[in-house]
Amino acid sequence: MQTRQTFQKSLTLDAVKAMQCHPTADQVYAYVAEKYPEISRATIYRNLNQLSEAGEISRVKNPCGADRIDHITHKHYHFICSCCHQLTNVDIPDIGHLAKLCEEQTGAKVEESQIFFGGICKNCAGR
Ligand SMILES: [Zn+2]
Ligand SMILES: [Zn+2]
Repeated sequence: MQTRQTFQKSLTLDAVKAMQCHPTADQVYAYVAEKYPEISRATIYRNLNQLSEAGEISRVKNPCGADRIDHITHKHYHFICSCCHQLTNVDIPDIGHLAKLCEEQTGAKVEESQIFFGGICKNCAGR
């Protein structure tokens, strides 16, 4: 039998997978709350933390706003539109060698990196 906690966690994961748009934690909460208004915001936030610790979702640090939740967990990059602030997935070969260059120049050990491409997206440019 599923515990209440497992159920709420899978609801959260399903919401992230269904949304597919790099939602903020708040947007995930709003999505779940539409169907399950009894679930609290704190529960959703906790579940999102647990899911990202377990590697089932990833968290994108957004340079211009709240962190976004990503249903894709493999390494990929993002294009961020400066007009509508949408994040688009960019699936290009790993550019991790940039971390090596950074290490060579600074002598530091790089543990993480996030690379964003910025500009105006197709939709906004066409307006
Ligand atoms: Zn745009
Ligand atoms: Zn993504």
